[in-house]
Amino acid sequence: MDKKQIEEMAMKLQRTGQSDRARWLQTIDQKIPALFKKRIVENDKSVLRELIMPSWITWEFLRDWALDDAEEVRCSSCGLVTENFTNFKNITICNECLESLRKM
Ligand SMILES: [Zn+2]
Repeated sequence: MDKKQIEEMAMKLQRTGQSDRARWLQTIDQKIPALFKKRIVENDKSVLRELIMPSWITWEFLRDWALDDAEEVRCSSCGLVTENFTNFKNITICNECLESLRKM
């Protein structure tokens, strides 16, 4: 879920008269500090007990939000952003490159 999707969600809430929710979404970056965001990425649900979160916010939503902003991983070989990769001796290599290396 990127910033644009969050904004769209907020606008939809605004239109349906749920401006409190819209406002919460628009300030989500301030509501959830970076340290907590990192823990959400790590699937640490104890965050929910430590932060005061509105009841309509689901864990799935938070994960979606946090994961989108997570640091991008780039392949050391082809330089593309990748989600499926292997770390090999401090080198990040995407599955595609790994596959072509195996074939060599
Ligand atoms: Zn690659």
